[in-house]
Amino acid sequence: MQLKSDIKYVKGVGPTRAEAFYKLSVPSVGALLRYYPRAYEDWSRIVSIREMPENEPCCIRATVCHAPQKIRIPGGMLLFKTSVTDGAGLLNLTFFNNKYIGNQLKEGEEYLFFGKAVHGKYGTREMASPLFQKPQTAHRIRPIYPASGALSTKTIERCVQNVLDALETPIADFLPQEIRVRNGLCDLDTAIRHIHFPPDERALETARRRLIFDELLLLQLGLLQMKGKTENRRTDCVLTADYSAEFAALLPFTMTNAQRRAVQEAVRDMCSGEPMNRLLQGDVGSGKTAVAAALVYSVAKNGLQSAMMAPTEVLAEQHFRTFQEFFQDTEYTVVLLTGSMSAAEKRAAKEKLRSGEAVLAVGTHALIQNDVDFCRLGLCITDEQHRFGVAQRAGLTEKGDNPHILVMSATPIPRTLGLILYGDLNISVLDELPPGRQVIETYRVGTSYRPRIYSFIEKHLARGLQAYIVCPLVEEGETDLAPAEEYCAQLKNGVFHHRRVGLLHGRMKPREKDAVMRAFSAGEIDILVSTVVVEVGVDVPNAAVMVIENAERFGLSQLHQLRGRVGRGKEKSTCILVSDAQNEEAKARFQILCETTDGFKIADADLKLRGPGDFFGTRQHGLPALRISDLLRDTKMLETVQAEARWLLETDPALDAPEYAALRRQLAKMFTAANIG
Ligand code: ADP
Ligand code: MG
Repeated sequence: MQLKSDIKYVKGVGPTRAEAFYKLSVPSVGALLRYYPRAYEDWSRIVSIREMPENEPCCIRATVCHAPQKIRIPGGMLLFKTSVTDGAGLLNLTFFNNKYIGNQLKEGEEYLFFGKAVHGKYGTREMASPLFQKPQTAHRIRPIYPASGALSTKTIERCVQNVLDALETPIADFLPQEIRVRNGLCDLDTAIRHIHFPPDERALETARRRLIFDELLLLQLGLLQMKGKTENRRTDCVLTADYSAEFAALLPFTMTNAQRRAVQEAVRDMCSGEPMNRLLQGDVGSGKTAVAAALVYSVAKNGLQSAMMAPTEVLAEQHFRTFQEFFQDTEYTVVLLTGSMSAAEKRAAKEKLRSGEAVLAVGTHALIQNDVDFCRLGLCITDEQHRFGVAQRAGLTEKGDNPHILVMSATPIPRTLGLILYGDLNISVLDELPPGRQVIETYRVGTSYRPRIYSFIEKHLARGLQAYIVCPLVEEGETDLAPAEEYCAQLKNGVFHHRRVGLLHGRMKPREKDAVMRAFSAGEIDILVSTVVVEVGVDVPNAAVMVIENAERFGLSQLHQLRGRVGRGKEKSTCILVSDAQNEEAKARFQILCETTDGFKIADADLKLRGPGDFFGTRQHGLPALRISDLLRDTKMLETVQAEARWLLETDPALDAPEYAALRRQLAKMFTAANIG
């Protein structure tokens, strides 16, 4: 039996099970060995019957007192009852509907039993349907697999055992000896055998270490290689002169040092002869748009076009307006392209892109449609990167001939994780907010405070300021229209009858949304009631109060983003989280928000509360799925691996040396499976 053998040739796997394995993406013997247990039953710690905890899995070693007695109960159910003893205590066992029990448990013989006990009256101990094995042949730590349908964890365990028994040669190791030695890792064959059937906890730990190392190393190598590839490419979109200083003069403000540095880094990339591939990371309000604009301007001055893709129409429209303002004293034309524009409008925009009349297209993924052609696309910008997958990013760059790429993200992430997630990008960080920003004070209150919140808002409105109220996020399947509309009507007809209350929700036509946002920006609306569509990017400096209803329904980072809509002007701003939620997790989220406005701290906390699987959704990022490592928990290992990966690629960038051949193959396999690279 070989690793690439089809799963159907494994002993114990018939057509039904084979089908079930295919469904689990386990088509081969090799894949089965990589189908790791999700947990283990610990049969190695044996307790006495008297000391058995109640209702917790535990293991005892005991002798069967008498052959199991068959009892037929009304309804046709078959029970077997027996008792076992370890010399000090007596335990009653019951098995349901298992006619083989009578033959399997022999009077006078000793077994290991595993299960949860209940304490009965008069000190009796009871266990229902425990697992059992003969002590002589028992696996002391037994694997528990993610089971599904025809495949119980026991079935999978047996199949894995059969495979390990049938392998003719040890599993070949793709990691060269020197790397194993340097990092204190065991060989792959041992690691695989022990991850399924660890002889003890130490062995399990050693196996896990090795497999986590592998996974993270491959991920890191793959990403670094991708980065190397793009860096070595040539592009015709080389800038010959830097015009960003000229652009800075057009801005109504002075750029921060961080903004200037980011612009310089990007311009240097674009002058280098190779395509830029850069991530611009900056907390909400750090001024990413102005950086993008400076680059678009320099690119335009060099005779090239730019495209900027945003995740929502509202955001695209806002960027469009911002760029129009930035460029109003220039000769440059900017066009907008979103899905819900009329056919005629789209046609006009596309024509301007094709002819080269427009230097910039701002839009949603309408930009990556087939019939959108650019005259000379030199720079692709995607805003709020975490919403786009690698494929969509690629869709945009294909519109040009190796154009420069700038990805903008408002999700601050810890540096080590940034390297993993964006290993294929260079990073610029805006670690400085524009001057004069006020701290946003944040409070959490219960719904009974609503009257007080409204009078707080009223005080601000009286001073000519504006407010946002974010309505309850709707559950999936509900339309977001009703609650927002109702809430808005209530305010209009009630406490705020003398104020101008506007409504913004996801079902509105872009034109309507645009009109509302424009009116709010222009100060023609006092209170904007909105669903979560204001989340990203929207910018109205005169808004100083943000009320978030049902705050418990939002994630930490999302709340931080929402809050970032205020505190953009000279006035002190306030964010009020309204929630009656009592659960610990929600409370923890609110507390963090009330304590800090530092995006990095918040992202860290979010990561801890939600766990990295959720936070990153590696799939969503187009990265291979991680089976055993955890980007948050395994940060120490991540650092080890990053050092190792960098060393490897410095010594042998293409991993051409014969001792790396197996490693190279493994790498190709991991990344083709994820469809990237
Ligand atoms: P984000 O990084 O969240 O996308 P924006 O680009 O929307 O931030 O900028 C937030 C606000 O700050 C905008 O109103 C913008 O005009 C303003 N701004 C940006 N840079 C500066 C600066 N250097 N000085 C003053 N205001 C700035
Ligand atoms: Mg933005």
